[in-house]
Amino acid sequence: MYIPTRVMFGEGMLNKLGDQPMPGRRALIIISNGKSTRANGYLARTEEQLHRAGVETFVFDGVAPNPSVGNVNAGAKVARDNDCDFLVALGGGSVMDCAKAIAVMATNEGELWDYVPIGSGKGLPIAVRPLPIIAITTTAGTGSETDSSGVITKEDTFEKAFVGDASLFPVLSIVDAELMKSVPATFTAYQGFDALFHSTEGYIAKGANLMSDMYALEAIRNIAEYLPRAIKDGNDIEARTRVAFGNTLSGGVMCLTLITSEHALEHALSAYHPNLPHGAGLIMVSRAYYKYFIEHHACDDRFIRMAQAMGMTEASKPEDFLTALTRLQEACGVADLKMSDYGIVPEEFETLMRNTREVMGVMFTSDRVQMSDADIVNVYEESYK
Ligand SMILES: [Zn+2]
Repeated sequence: MYIPTRVMFGEGMLNKLGDQPMPGRRALIIISNGKSTRANGYLARTEEQLHRAGVETFVFDGVAPNPSVGNVNAGAKVARDNDCDFLVALGGGSVMDCAKAIAVMATNEGELWDYVPIGSGKGLPIAVRPLPIIAITTTAGTGSETDSSGVITKEDTFEKAFVGDASLFPVLSIVDAELMKSVPATFTAYQGFDALFHSTEGYIAKGANLMSDMYALEAIRNIAEYLPRAIKDGNDIEARTRVAFGNTLSGGVMCLTLITSEHALEHALSAYHPNLPHGAGLIMVSRAYYKYFIEHHACDDRFIRMAQAMGMTEASKPEDFLTALTRLQEACGVADLKMSDYGIVPEEFETLMRNTREVMGVMFTSDRVQMSDADIVNVYEESYK
């Protein structure tokens, strides 16, 4: 187990950032291209804390919801032009993921895809140490604050892939549920389910182990119990804190074992339809996806234990997991998401299936049962509305 990030967890932790040792003197603060980080006062508060610590700050506000290679190159240029010696990622998963890629490209030559290990990436080793990262997460979704990879989209080849390296663990992460109160209900749901699936996938993965199981079950328990509350009342700080806790644990799961191909199926969807939020895409395919593994008896006992962790104490058969998952999606108002609302058409499913193999093929090595190409297309078809 190697998760070398110092995590400051709890309500109000952002106010303590200025007391912490800093990894440099000149910080590039990375935020999304939306208005919220400024409007909520999070940027000003972060700048104030960094200035209190004697750090000079610069801002890059060009990260799109599904960050692209272009976003990474633009951010790396700002970091180099201003001689920044560390990065502060202030935002959700997109911002933290993009910061990791910027950290690599601020100090290394060539193109980002030289360092991407999958798809058409060259998989070269990262020669020069990337800039250190402080992550301040404003959402509870990707677990990126405690892992060492970042997902980036290469638009011309429809590849949603990643860079990853032990040097990309944030040196410090702030998980402050107060910053999550402003996330709208629908995105709270999408991000919460992303966090849930990092743990459900990790729990049924081939590489699941004693440590990842402990993190995963506790994450599933916290998210299933508290996500509906956080969606209903965004100011419910206890619920926000518990969902954030589940999400941070799920980030740990991804450091302890490779998650499964549900993420490959989703990455293909949002690579071709960048307006589709990652969590929403996962929700859309989830029931047909898990049904496949349940019908093939991939790990009956594990599905039963997940259903129990989701509050179905009487669960006794693997199918109960599908019931628990459906109930949770209904309680969170996301049981009826439609692919067609995002412009997805069934004629694409063959193309999407090939994309899962070509770009995220590695995820299938984590599955206990191997899906055929037809099985993958079938999951999309069953999920289609
Ligand atoms: Zn995810």
